[in-house]
Amino acid sequence: MSASPNHSGKATESYDVVVVGAGFAGMYMLHKLRGQGFSVRVYEQGDGVGGTWYWNRYPGARCDVESMQYSYSFSDELQQEWDWSERYAPQPEILKYANHVADRFNLRPDIQFSTRVERAAFNETTNLWSVTLSDGKTVTAKFVVLATGCLSNARMPEIRGLAGFKGKVYHTGHWPHETVDFTGQRVGVIGTGSSGIQSVPVIAEQASHLTVFQRTANFSIPAHNAVLTEEERQAFRAKYPEVRHFARVESRNGIYAEVPDRGALDDGDNERRSKYEARWNHGGLTFMSVYNNLALDKIANDTAADFVREKIAEIVADPETARLLQPNNHPIGTKRICIDTEYFSTFNRPNVTLVDIKSNPIEEITTNAVRIGVKDYEVDALVLATGFDAMTGSVAKIDISGRHGQTLNQKWAEGPRTYLGLMSEGFPNLFVITGPGSPSVLSNMMVSIEQHVDWITDCVTHMRERHLAAMEATKDAEDKWVAHVNEVADSTLYPQANSWYMGANVPGKPRIFMPYIGGVGPYRQICDDVAAKGYEGFVMTGAEQPRKVAAS
Ligand SMILES: Cc1cc2nc3c(=O)[nH]c(=O)nc-3n(C[C@H](O)[C@H](O)[C@H](O)COP(=O)(O)OP(=O)(O)OC[C@H]3O[C@@H](n4cnc5c(N)ncnc54)[C@H](O)[C@@H]3O)c2cc1C
Repeated sequence: MSASPNHSGKATESYDVVVVGAGFAGMYMLHKLRGQGFSVRVYEQGDGVGGTWYWNRYPGARCDVESMQYSYSFSDELQQEWDWSERYAPQPEILKYANHVADRFNLRPDIQFSTRVERAAFNETTNLWSVTLSDGKTVTAKFVVLATGCLSNARMPEIRGLAGFKGKVYHTGHWPHETVDFTGQRVGVIGTGSSGIQSVPVIAEQASHLTVFQRTANFSIPAHNAVLTEEERQAFRAKYPEVRHFARVESRNGIYAEVPDRGALDDGDNERRSKYEARWNHGGLTFMSVYNNLALDKIANDTAADFVREKIAEIVADPETARLLQPNNHPIGTKRICIDTEYFSTFNRPNVTLVDIKSNPIEEITTNAVRIGVKDYEVDALVLATGFDAMTGSVAKIDISGRHGQTLNQKWAEGPRTYLGLMSEGFPNLFVITGPGSPSVLSNMMVSIEQHVDWITDCVTHMRERHLAAMEATKDAEDKWVAHVNEVADSTLYPQANSWYMGANVPGKPRIFMPYIGGVGPYRQICDDVAAKGYEGFVMTGAEQPRKVAAS
């Protein structure tokens, strides 16, 4: 850090890099940049590290990528020494891991907690960012890295009367730190995405009655979560070099799994069914990797979707409840598939009711009930499992202005535009980790986070070595990348779903397929090639003269 006087005569702190957010992305960004000798300051609005795992403390919260893989790979010592207790670690354990990493790599001295970044403005004369904080201070930095998270801006539903509800209201993405005990209470859960699906079975065990308000039924595969034995951990650790290499370089989604060599229609009915059955019994996200065309061919996809719908009908005793729980408005896998523990069987409990709010939307929330038509569902507490303003929500809450005073919100008004999901034209020296236009939420995020952090570190080191002042995506490269992202998405079934990948869960948000579906391995190769060609598609401005490298 250095200090220089500002216009009011006070000293302004100045850093090489300001990082916004201290989740897994911000923490690793800090560690990596500091290791290269950069001065770095991280600002985090929460009062601890861990991001997602700091905020999402709802009952049943756990990862859906297996923990041995949903973990950092940058330090072999770290991955060899940390003991995951279960196949899918629960939220408290993942948060403990984040804190362990913060301590082990001595990250805390460079993180300022309980501090929001409110504004960031680029000064075209000095090529510095001016970053305004919630404590009123302004600091400057050559680079700003937005590690603000794709699923960090909890979305409150707009339901009439919600503010007047007299009971407790909880959002899964903003859960209190103290234990919430629903014993003896009538609880309503609104929303049946991943957080709803994880929390419903646990809340049902406590509540006197649980009413689940469902707008969209979602596909969910059993986790078959289990305690990991020391032998299992050791066996996995022994093959870490292979697992991590595969996840980074060969996989499409950052997960170590068999690569399917045939399509769903290449097998006969019995063979196909037994493969789905085996995957269902194995559990987890690899269900969709059984065939290579489930995301591409609707008829192939229907075979997997039908299998899951049949499973739901087998599990759920009441035929009408089973029918409502069977997803039928999107191909399987085109919304992030959920991974559950006893979700569907929970609806066989006498204290659980499913209410369809697609055909009969919630009219209002009264002081003590959810009103649908003439019926009031009385509840003592409400759990809003209504998800996030995904991928762009937390970025949009920061007032970011780039060249010519243009704000990022103005530029992204019709949907986010980036080159490689890393930078946006007109906003020099501003990076986004796992931003729109990168594989991001379609992947094991740990793999994508590490890839972006490594790439950004190499990039700013390259600039430092060459005394370059500013770097910016060209409009041409960005336009081509946006077109490519759309073209790849359109060749799949994904855009057929009204998903949060499309921004469809937020009223008024432009419908754009935000993540890059081309696959983690191929995407990494593209980013590496861009760097190897001297950061093709970016303009780098030195102290003396601009240097432009055209995109091919
Ligand atoms: C319940 C849940 C389960 C998940 N499970 C998985 C999984 O199994 N596998 C997987 O790959 N992914 C999973 N994800 C996605 C998860 O978000 C990522 O895996 C990962 O944790 C993201 O890390 P991050 O650091 O990029 O963002 P985050 O963890 O979201 O951290 C961003 C941080 O930035 C802070 N911040 C934002 N704006 C500002 C600001 N203006 N000023 C200061 N601070 C700010 C936030 O407070 C937050 O702490 C899950 C997400 C959720 C919600």
